[in-house]
Amino acid sequence: MASGHSVTIESDAGKTAGFLDSAYEEAGASIAKDAASAVQGADIVFKVRGPEEDEIAALPDGTALIALMEPFAMDPKVLAGLNAKKIAALSMEFTPRITRAQSMDALSSQSNLSGYRAVIEGAQIYGRAMPMMMTAAGTVAPAKVFVMGAGVAGLQAIATARRLGGVVTATDVRPAAKEQVASLGAKFIAVEDDEFKAAETAGGYAKQMSPEYQAKQAELTASHIAKQDIVVTTALIPGRAAPVLITEDMVKSMKPGSVIVDMAVAQGGNCPLSKPDEIVDVGGVKVAGFSNLPARLPADSSSLYAKNLLAFLPLVTAEDGSLNLDTDDEVVVAMLLTRGGDTVNERIQS
Ligand code: NAD
Repeated sequence: MASGHSVTIESDAGKTAGFLDSAYEEAGASIAKDAASAVQGADIVFKVRGPEEDEIAALPDGTALIALMEPFAMDPKVLAGLNAKKIAALSMEFTPRITRAQSMDALSSQSNLSGYRAVIEGAQIYGRAMPMMMTAAGTVAPAKVFVMGAGVAGLQAIATARRLGGVVTATDVRPAAKEQVASLGAKFIAVEDDEFKAAETAGGYAKQMSPEYQAKQAELTASHIAKQDIVVTTALIPGRAAPVLITEDMVKSMKPGSVIVDMAVAQGGNCPLSKPDEIVDVGGVKVAGFSNLPARLPADSSSLYAKNLLAFLPLVTAEDGSLNLDTDDEVVVAMLLTRGGDTVNERIQS
């Protein structure tokens, strides 16, 4: 390969994304018949998801494993297995939100695609057109779209809904979101009290809001939701269950035919009625939960994730290409979960 490494890939790993084994071979990679043979002798293993317990045996001792490890939901047996083999596991979810690490930030690359896809899925389920159409046969009103949570996914959802002709409003608990929402041409709706003004961590994530704030927020959004055609919820708090933003009563207040797309369904959901990978009909309101939206754009999600991994490679290799974890680098420190038989990340040591 251009960087001097030898690369082996599991056969058919890219097939469903439209990348055939022959394309990897042309690019200089070897194809192994299965995952266990692909990782044999590897110094560095790149994966999409963290390993299942039964996959750990095949990993070489002392290898560096870089994947979306779901660090807050890790099976203790997997953690023990990684430590038993002295594997240095690095979690892509813990990429710090600093400028230098932006190219490695897989949560951002995948959230962006998910936000786009959530609106496309919502538009598909919605039984009406999204843009305003003035025709000889009458006028079609534009769809009212409300995006809850205006992080990376939410901002892309806003942009996508606007492109499709929706009239878009959005909310978030982080004050920084207000300007970003407005810059995309959407209206910002939030309870802007003192708690709101302090509701962002140094890492740029949302804080868990107090029950009092959540009650005020619910009151404000309840009347707004009743008038919406499509609601996309994206609200997440790292390491915690997703906050409930749409109650059963709010769902019932919506018009039949309207749609909720709950992007947080895999983290417990922003709406208690959503179910992973189902469209639940609540009196004509469709509540859709997609647990893996990037998988609905496999070519783009794979390409961007691969770029994230590639950007990370210099931080785990020396100039001659050999494995060399730079444990003085703040990016490596933030992402490293296990090393030399110990769990070394304080965010998962509890
Ligand atoms: P996320 O996926 O963790 O959460 C999604 C959104 O939900 C966030 O905007 C969050 O504030 C919001 N939210 C949480 N609780 C809520 C509630 N009760 N009501 C409404 N909204 C709620 O967030 P994210 O997409 O990862 O982005 C978080 C921030 O980090 C953004 O400002 C983003 O621009 C920033 N960011 C920075 C970098 C970088 O500098 N390298 C990279 C990526 C993201």
